[in-house]
Amino acid sequence: MSFSATVLTLYPEMFPGALGLSLAGRALEASTWSLEAIQIRGFATDRHRTVDDTPAGGGAGMVMRADVLASAIDYASPAGDPRPRLLMSPRGKPLTQARVRELAAGPGAVIVCGRFEGVDQRVIEARGLEEVSVGDFILSGGEPAALVLLDAVVRLLPGVMGNAVSGDEESFENGLLEHPHYTRPQEFEGRQIPEVLTSGNHKKIAAWRRAESEKLTKERRPDLLAAHPLVK
Ligand code: SAH
Repeated sequence: MSFSATVLTLYPEMFPGALGLSLAGRALEASTWSLEAIQIRGFATDRHRTVDDTPAGGGAGMVMRADVLASAIDYASPAGDPRPRLLMSPRGKPLTQARVRELAAGPGAVIVCGRFEGVDQRVIEARGLEEVSVGDFILSGGEPAALVLLDAVVRLLPGVMGNAVSGDEESFENGLLEHPHYTRPQEFEGRQIPEVLTSGNHKKIAAWRRAESEKLTKERRPDLLAAHPLVK
């Protein structure tokens, strides 16, 4: 069974977007995964197809209505749907490679994209939405965040990446940032490829890469080292 993604959005035209190209696009064509983008507005009940309203308690902006969103979720993910229901949200748990791996190993995901100031808290609780953040910054909507999440997941699906090995050595997979890469030409503007990499000594190369990874992680992301004490 292939990974099945359903996205609830006010901008279904944003999908598949970038995911229609390159690796993800080919995998979509090959039915390695499927993507359905559902217009939330289709579940509005009034004449004006209202999906948002002013915030209770006052303040700027608009809030997405719980009732409209709940109808959309119930349509996209009826009782018994095994897929997790995610809400893209800057208040969510930051997305990690570990969570991406879990999602890729599962049946798919139902992804709600917020707009405006966000969504009514009651639908988050009533439909058990798992809030997921793609970083400590504010996007104008959940759609780019959903594209980011799906991109990360889809590349892990069996058969999507040509060279399966390259996945395991990447940044975060072992709790470290990846070592630097080089390719031809041997000299670029007076800079040489580090000698060890052209030595043909695979043990030395592996040791050099590991040392570079650790150095880089120490410099740039000491928080990662703290989270993986064995690496120290
Ligand atoms: N007022 C909210 C931000 C709303 S941004 C706050 O301060 O928390 C509008 C929508 O964009 C959100 O509902 C969410 O779906 C999406 N979004 C914005 N930033 C995001 C992020 N860092 N990660 C995931 N989704 C995000």
